[in-house]
Amino acid sequence: MAEIAAKVLVLGGGPGGYVAAIRAGHHGLDTVLVEDTKVGGTCLNVGCIPSKALIHAADEYALALARAAGSPFGLATGTPTLDLARTVAWKDGIVARLNAGVAALLKKNGVKILRGRGTMLDGKTCRVDTDVGTDTVRAEHVILATGSRPAALPGLPFGGPVISSTEALSLPAVPRRLAVVGAGYIGLELGMAFAKLGAAVTVVEATDRVLPLYDAELVRPLRRSLDAHGVTVLLGARAAGRDGEGLLVDAAEGRRTVPADTILVAVGRRPRTAGWGLERLDLDMDGPFIRVDERCATSMRGVWAVGDVTGEPMLAHRAMAQGEAVADIVAGRRRSFEPRVVPAVVFTDPEIVAAGLTPEEARAGGHAVRTGLFPFAANGRAMTLGGDDGFVRVTARADNHLILGIQAVGAGVSELAAGFGLALEMGARLEDIAGTIHAHPTLGEAFHEANLRALGEALHI
Ligand code: FAD
Ligand code: NAD
Repeated sequence: MAEIAAKVLVLGGGPGGYVAAIRAGHHGLDTVLVEDTKVGGTCLNVGCIPSKALIHAADEYALALARAAGSPFGLATGTPTLDLARTVAWKDGIVARLNAGVAALLKKNGVKILRGRGTMLDGKTCRVDTDVGTDTVRAEHVILATGSRPAALPGLPFGGPVISSTEALSLPAVPRRLAVVGAGYIGLELGMAFAKLGAAVTVVEATDRVLPLYDAELVRPLRRSLDAHGVTVLLGARAAGRDGEGLLVDAAEGRRTVPADTILVAVGRRPRTAGWGLERLDLDMDGPFIRVDERCATSMRGVWAVGDVTGEPMLAHRAMAQGEAVADIVAGRRRSFEPRVVPAVVFTDPEIVAAGLTPEEARAGGHAVRTGLFPFAANGRAMTLGGDDGFVRVTARADNHLILGIQAVGAGVSELAAGFGLALEMGARLEDIAGTIHAHPTLGEAFHEANLRALGEALHI
C-alpha cells in the first residue's frame, strides 16, 4: 500500500478530468489522475468517438447501396456487403489510438495515472483500489470528474436484448428489428445509423416531437429524412416494459407492442454521484448534480468539480473547457467558466448545430429581434455535395444587431459550429459577419447570406 502526496488529485479520466490533469501538468502542478477503466471516459471509449465512427460507416454503406441502385452522378457500383465485425474492429482501432494518445499526453505533462477505483475518504484523501493493492492519495486540491452513466427505465432494466448506447456500439450483428426508446441525441444518432445499416427501426418518444430540446423549424428537415430512411417514429408514446414480441408502449390509443429483437434505451444520462464516497463530503447539490459556482468550485474548500457530474449540457467540449479553467484557477490564474455559448451538434443525417438563442427564446427573453434564414437549396456547394435540404438561421437584437443565436440544419453543418461559436463568443454583429469574405463555394456562405438577409441585403435569394 502506497501513500501518495500530490498537489492535485483528479478523480475520473474523461474529457473533464484528463484535460484538467494535462492543464495542471502544463502549470507544473504535481498531479495524480485516478481512472477506473481507460482514460478518455465515456466520450472516447463509449460515446462521442465510437458513435461517430459507427455513424460514418453507416453513411458509407448507405451511399454504396444508393450507388448500386444508380446515382445522379453517373456512377454505378456493385451491391455492397457489410461485415459489422470489421466495422466494430475499425472503430475499436480508432478508440485504442486515442486512448494511447491521451495516456501519452498525460505522461508527457508529468501526470501520474493511477488505474483503479477511487473512493473519497474526506475532502483531501482518496483510497484507490488497484489490481495490485490499495493506494492512498492525499492532495491539496481535488477535482471531481466522475461523469455520467446511461439512465435506465423501471420496466426495462438493461440486460439481454435491452441495451444502452454502450452495447449498441459493439453489437455482433445488425439487429433485424430495433426499437429505440427516446428520440433525443443518442436515439436519433444511433437509430438512424442502424436504419442505414439495414435494421427496421422504430423510435418511441414520450413527447410530441423528435429532439424536443430543439425548435420545430430546425428539426423539420431531420423529420423528413427519418421518413425517407424508413425510420418509424411513434410520438406521445412511453416505453412501459417488454413482452416476448418486443417493446410495450403506452400511447393515447392504448398499449401496443412494437416488435423488436433489440431495444435501445436512450432516455438520458445520470450523473455518477454514487459509489465513490460523495456522501463523506459535505457538498451542496443541484438536484442530482454537484453544485459548482462559476469557478467550478464546490461548496467545500479545495474541492472542485467538472463535466457531466456538474449538470447540463452534458457535452464533452463543456467538460473539457471546465477542466481547463479549473486547472488554471488551481494554479492561481484569475479565470472563470462563464462561456457566452456552448454549441451543440446532433450528428444525424442531416446534422443539426445550435449555438445561442433561437428566435423564440430571444423574444421570450424580452428582445426585439431580426432574423435571417438562408436555405441550402440556394447554396452552390450544398448542391454539388448532393444534399441541399436545410438552412442556416441567425437571430440578432433589432436595436444594435448583436447576434444572439445561430442554428443550422443540413449535410455536413457540424463543421460550421466553430464559426458560430466564434461569432457569439466575440460578440459579433450582423454587419461583422456580413462584412467578412466567406470562401466560395462553401456551406459557410449560407451563414454569410443569413446575416445579409437579416439586414435585408441578401444577394443570392
Ligand atoms: P465521463 O466521460 O463520463 O468520464 C468519467 C470518467 O470517470 C470515466 O472514465 C469513469 O470510468 C471515471 N470514474 C468515475 N468514477 C470513478 C471512480 N470512483 N474511480 C475511478 N474512476 C472513476 N458529447 C459531445 O460533446 N459530443 C458528442 O458527439 C457526444 N456523443 C455522445 C455519444 C454517446 C453514445 C454518449 C453516451 C455520450 C456522448 N456525448 C457527446 C457526451 C459526452 O460523452 C460526455 O458529455 C462526456 O464524456 C463527459 O465527460 P466527463 O469527463 O464529465 O465524464
Ligand atoms: P436525451 O436527453 O437527448 O433524450 C432522451 C429522450 O428520451 C427525450 O426526448 C425524452 O423525452 C425521451 N424519453 C424519456 N423517457 C421516455 C420514455 N419512458 N419513453 C419514451 N421516451 C422517453 O438523452 P440521450 O439521447 O440518452 O443522450 C444523453 C446525453 O448524452 C445527451 O443529453 C447529451 O448530453 C449527450 N449526447 C450528446 C451527443 C452529441 O453531442 N452529439 C450525442 C449523444 C449523447
